[in-house]
Amino acid sequence: MVYLKALIQKLEEKEVTPKELRDTFKINNRRVRVLLEIVRRILKKKNKELVIVPAVCKNCGYVFSKKEISTPWKCPRCKSERIIPPRFYIKENKKRKRR
Ligand SMILES: [Zn+2]
Repeated sequence: MVYLKALIQKLEEKEVTPKELRDTFKINNRRVRVLLEIVRRILKKKNKELVIVPAVCKNCGYVFSKKEISTPWKCPRCKSERIIPPRFYIKENKKRKRR
C-alpha cells in the first residue's frame, strides 16, 4: 500500500480519470476499483468524500452509472464509442451529514 497516500494526494489535487490512475500507478482497472474503495473508506473517517463523476456519451449525452469505475467501451443507447471517461476527486465536507 505504498501508493495509497500518493493516490489520495493526487485525488485531492485534481480530477483524475481511470487511465491516469492506471498510467501513474501502473495498475489495472480491477486494482483501480479496489483502491478507490479503500480510499472511500479512509476518507469517511476524515470527513472527506470521494466524488465520482460518471462517464458520459459524447454523442447522445447518456450518463453511465457511478459504479462504472472504468471507461465504458460503448454507449448502450446510441452505440457510439465516443465516451468521456469517469473522473474522480476528493471533496472535503464542511459539515458531517447524517444519512
Ligand atoms: Zn450515446
